[in-house]
Amino acid sequence: MEKIKFEDLLINDNIKKAVLEMGFEEPSPIQSQSIPVILSGKDVIGQAQTGTGKTAAFSIPILDMINPNEKTLQALVLCPTRELAIQVSTEIRKIGKYIHGIKTLPIYGGQPIDRQIKSLKGGVQIVIGTPGRVIDHINRKTLKLDNVKMVILDEADEMLDMGFREDIETILSKTPEDRQTTFFSATMPKGILELTKKYQNNPEHIKVVRKELTVPNIKQYYIETRSSNKLEVLSRLIDVYNPKLSVVFTNTKKGADELVSDLQARGYFADALHGDLKQTQRDIVMDKFRNSTIDILVATDVAARGIDVDDVEAVFNYDLPQDEEYYVHRIGRTGRAGREGISFSFVFGKELRKMRDIERYTKTKLIKHDIPSVSDVEEKKAKAFFDEVEKTIKEGNLTKQANYLERFMKENETDYSIFDIASALLKISLGDEEKEEIIEEPSRKRENSKSPREGMIRLFINVGRKQRVQAKDILGAIAGEVGIPGKNVGTIDIYDKYTFVEVPKKNAKKVLEKMKNIKIKGNKINIEQANKKRK
Ligand code: AMP
Repeated sequence: MEKIKFEDLLINDNIKKAVLEMGFEEPSPIQSQSIPVILSGKDVIGQAQTGTGKTAAFSIPILDMINPNEKTLQALVLCPTRELAIQVSTEIRKIGKYIHGIKTLPIYGGQPIDRQIKSLKGGVQIVIGTPGRVIDHINRKTLKLDNVKMVILDEADEMLDMGFREDIETILSKTPEDRQTTFFSATMPKGILELTKKYQNNPEHIKVVRKELTVPNIKQYYIETRSSNKLEVLSRLIDVYNPKLSVVFTNTKKGADELVSDLQARGYFADALHGDLKQTQRDIVMDKFRNSTIDILVATDVAARGIDVDDVEAVFNYDLPQDEEYYVHRIGRTGRAGREGISFSFVFGKELRKMRDIERYTKTKLIKHDIPSVSDVEEKKAKAFFDEVEKTIKEGNLTKQANYLERFMKENETDYSIFDIASALLKISLGDEEKEEIIEEPSRKRENSKSPREGMIRLFINVGRKQRVQAKDILGAIAGEVGIPGKNVGTIDIYDKYTFVEVPKKNAKKVLEKMKNIKIKGNKINIEQANKKRK
């Protein structure tokens, strides 16, 4: 199949401009397959998970369809959680940056409704909302659906799991019949199929078909590091492992260019390879890489497809790839010609979930690797230095240098020992910069990435040990407020500032509703779904 470029899509130039500025190099598989179909006006079922670029897959057609001069609600996106609603809204705003007159608003429970009502009165064309709150606005007549042309259900399976089916049906039945309806869902359980039958019109089912791929014999590590530390972590890994050649992958051209400047500023020999370069420029970069004029190639997926260099000893996923298949292509740049390869993937927070998808797809386990400490790096550098010293001694021919040394020692009034001089040389060569250790706190997302048991859902409550909360307080609140027997409540994990509790999926909606205004140990709480479990 011919690859589609953003430039080829029949969309508003202002959208293309924003997307390219965001550094998207080419549409991801779900985007290239679903955008043209949605643009053609057909209903679509897109089977895709978080991290595949699904948000842009529906946001681009929405923005292309909206009439900015018409100040009524034209597109409605339903999302399972507040977090996702905000995320989607942010992405739509970014993509719609250059289209004037478009207003986008996320509406979700937990935020004062008055503020939302005020914003809605300002003439919003795109609403991204959680089902409960959307119904609330419909009932208050603060949200009018008569002009809605497009409805998107994002993470439809999650919404059903959380018990929103009835709400979704109510909302859909209140929108105009001739609307275009798009479902995005990671899985296609029976409930979703029933909904599509009832509310979609001859939908096209788009699923990114994946070939089964086996990953060659490469040691695959992952490192948990937040974005702000990635550059330092990458530098340390390169210093410790000292790979002959390495390829570092970023998801965007902009990211690649920025990383190259940062690496060059630190004295590394790096250059970028991405889709903005002309073929002749690419050839120059590749020649430099092959003959080791540069030893770090920072590349995007598009540009790296053809890299076939035998001496690549390490691959770094500076950004985790968008698609599992890209992961396999990326790490396959090392371990070639029967050599050993090593790969490192940088992840943080919810990316751990994406990493688990990669593991499932490749049927391998990534091994956790600690961030190398400052002393790891120093020791490695010292060892490399002494190896070089040994090699130079063995090669001999040091008379000239020995004479200089002798003269220096004689001319000096104080008695420096050879030991003093060697130590000073070592310091000059390796430097003696004081560097801070990186201490990464495990993110909330990490704890929250634990999968709940079958049939259960994990909720997050913003009180914990610091508020002297104990398991019995949580149990008591759930049993008392919602009426669920204590024995039906699952694991309760209490951390310093927050708590996770598992409740049966079928009760989740009720728990979220009943507990949103209560107090635990005198603290007004915020409760929401913690973990969007992937199947
Ligand atoms: P999503 O699957 O929608 O959660 O997207 C995951 C991330 O990929 C988001 O940060 C997007 O901004 C980013 N993204 C979406 N499409 C592309 C693309 N074509 N190229 C690079 N990044 C993208």
